[in-house]
Amino acid sequence: MVIKADSPKTYVLTIDVEIDAGPKWKTSNPASYEGVYTGIEVLQRLCDSYGVKPVYLISPAVMVDQKSVDCLKSLNKSHCELGAHLHGEYIPPMERFPGPDFSGCDPKDMQCEYDKDIEFEKLKNLTNKFFDLFGYAPKSFRAGRFGARGWTLECLERLGYTHDTSVTPFRNWHDIADFSKPSSLSPYYPSKDNICLQGTSTILEVPVSITPNLEWLRPTPRFSDFDQCKRVIDWYETHTTPTVLCSMFHNVELVPNKSPYCKTAEDCHAMLERIEQTFHLLKTRGYRFKTLDQITVDG
Ligand SMILES: [Zn+2]
Repeated sequence: MVIKADSPKTYVLTIDVEIDAGPKWKTSNPASYEGVYTGIEVLQRLCDSYGVKPVYLISPAVMVDQKSVDCLKSLNKSHCELGAHLHGEYIPPMERFPGPDFSGCDPKDMQCEYDKDIEFEKLKNLTNKFFDLFGYAPKSFRAGRFGARGWTLECLERLGYTHDTSVTPFRNWHDIADFSKPSSLSPYYPSKDNICLQGTSTILEVPVSITPNLEWLRPTPRFSDFDQCKRVIDWYETHTTPTVLCSMFHNVELVPNKSPYCKTAEDCHAMLERIEQTFHLLKTRGYRFKTLDQITVDG
């Protein structure tokens, strides 16, 4: 009798690393970076105690702050991964906010609305900036506001990336980035004509874990409570093979009043508790904890 072994389940935690912001994502004024200095330190400590390896996807608005760069550089690279996150208004060409002081900016761009050559040049400048600051090329990417398209994959391939996590299944963002008809909830090689479809890109797409009921695996208060996180985990285990859970939130949610979500220290504490409950459940269920660049099409 052949007993089919359960295929191993995988969890990846992805963090968009942003400049501190206010209620509607307008940046702090004066610009501050407590979400990097404090938020990442607290999160990394919790991750280390469970063996979770978070992926920090860094916005260009953070790359202008030397202390933030130093914080990120000081992390143990066998315990996390650094990648890139494009908010195109902060980086040339045609940058809406020239910086380096990004106080009081209102980022609303989605890169899939740029002309193709502009999107490529922004991604190239972001990638080069990452290389200059950290000394190596990033492998993993997420578009700001999830605004990626097929062309984005072509750009990422040319710039040496291997992994993207911009697809948010079942969500349609303002008819600008429409992921309402996903073709896979497990990692897949997408089409460069339509990022939702499978195709010939060499970039491995790792979709954010969202159910058809639009429940996210996201510990953010006012977004989902632990019971919902557990429902998403259960749903993915039942409906996907291999099961690769991709959770996301922002570093700035871990400090009070630096994001639209966590207003108070209690909110931040509740969020950390929820993150820990999730880690604990996943560990009990035998999940492997990976960085994005360690994920394969098999999990
Ligand atoms: Zn972002």
